[in-house]
Amino acid sequence: MAITGVPPDRPRVAVVKRDKVPGGLTLDYSPEDLAIVKEMVQEAVDLATGGIEHVVFPGDRVVIKPNILFPVAIKWGICTDPRVIEALIMVIRERVKPVQVFVAENAAMNSSTMASFDAAGITQAARRAGAVLIPLEHTSVVEVEIPKAKYWVGDNPKVFRALLDADVVINVPKMKTHFQTCNVTLGLKNWNGILPFGPGRDCCQQQQQGHMVEMDQKFADLYRAVKPSLTVVDGIIGMEGQGPFAGELVDMNLIIAGTDTVAVDAVAATIMGFDPLVDIGTTRICHHEGLGVADLARIEVVGRKVEEVRRPFKRPSWDAVGVYPTVHVYGRGGCPGCLAPIRVVIDYFNMMGKLELVPPDYLKEAGNLVFLEGKGPFPHPEAVPIGKVFIVGDCVPESVVETYRKVRPSTFVVRGCAPMHAWIPIADELAKMMGRTSWPAWTEQFYVTTTGPAPAG
Ligand code: SF4
Repeated sequence: MAITGVPPDRPRVAVVKRDKVPGGLTLDYSPEDLAIVKEMVQEAVDLATGGIEHVVFPGDRVVIKPNILFPVAIKWGICTDPRVIEALIMVIRERVKPVQVFVAENAAMNSSTMASFDAAGITQAARRAGAVLIPLEHTSVVEVEIPKAKYWVGDNPKVFRALLDADVVINVPKMKTHFQTCNVTLGLKNWNGILPFGPGRDCCQQQQQGHMVEMDQKFADLYRAVKPSLTVVDGIIGMEGQGPFAGELVDMNLIIAGTDTVAVDAVAATIMGFDPLVDIGTTRICHHEGLGVADLARIEVVGRKVEEVRRPFKRPSWDAVGVYPTVHVYGRGGCPGCLAPIRVVIDYFNMMGKLELVPPDYLKEAGNLVFLEGKGPFPHPEAVPIGKVFIVGDCVPESVVETYRKVRPSTFVVRGCAPMHAWIPIADELAKMMGRTSWPAWTEQFYVTTTGPAPAG
């Protein structure tokens, strides 16, 4: 969609900052706190587009896509801030009438999106502002052919129909680092949620497939398939380090908006201390494929200057080697696709320790944890530290698995290539080994104890 006064070869990105945004991450933020965020969202959208009425027209069906990971309490800052969602819906509905606004998401890792909406405060925010929630996992998908795709070659993704049928799609990611290859999760990475979850490359495998070296190309291809009309980055409270869920929160007090998601991501990534043409695969690929502009010299930044608000984020890492004293990784001939889920296990238990749902040294209770990934060669099972052995990925030869099972009968095997899902059975196994409840039960406990029921509507 052409926005008045914004030349497509020099996209405009608005950066709006306040010294302090009061209220923080809570389900019961006050109308006064919401008003400040609304003012920021309004200002960013106006600066970037000349007004929401240049993006949304009367009678439009608008789908807002936040970034909601799984059912985790709002205070951990993992999901899009509900104040930003509520503010955006208010801005749209006040300025454009009549209009239908939906908030649609497909939470990660097969989690319940409704439970995730509730925990993140999105349910009450959306309903209060007059929008309808769509938990996408209960809706239909459509196979889409993507011309010039490089990842989706030989098969086509199936994406949720709700996004394809919308007149306007608005992308509302959160400003976070991401421990896998693309370093950040902003607008382009947020498109992983337009795919259904599953364990295979067919329709059900799409969401987790590609969480390895080619994932940036996957997101660039998806951006060809579904182009949002507007991207609004929630940069109120960002996350640095081991994002997207185990990092540390940073008060940024920012809203960043624009119609070119590539340019918005490029500006946001630069503010976070990354070079969007070097460090960020998604923006680099999209820029070179002509899908948007990631070169800051060709982006018109309005509002605050990038250098005024730049605050380098701690970098994330997918590498599980040498980060925890009792975790021993044997990974010759492997790749990030298998190292990343091992790293997630470490990050996850550390996060649960911070949440006080497990002791801070929970992993140490398990003793030595030995991980094998890649093609090897691997040492004989008697030569690795005494402790639990996990074999991750398809690359590890079956002969190695057989030998380990013979000599170390408790060896736990999770197959798959780039088996991102592997961290869940591994976390479950660790929990069971220590006589604790399993991962889903923790999540449920966390959800129940930290959220209240959403108002009816
Ligand atoms: S199975 Fe092999 S190629 Fe696939 S992600 Fe693991 S190490 Fe990489």
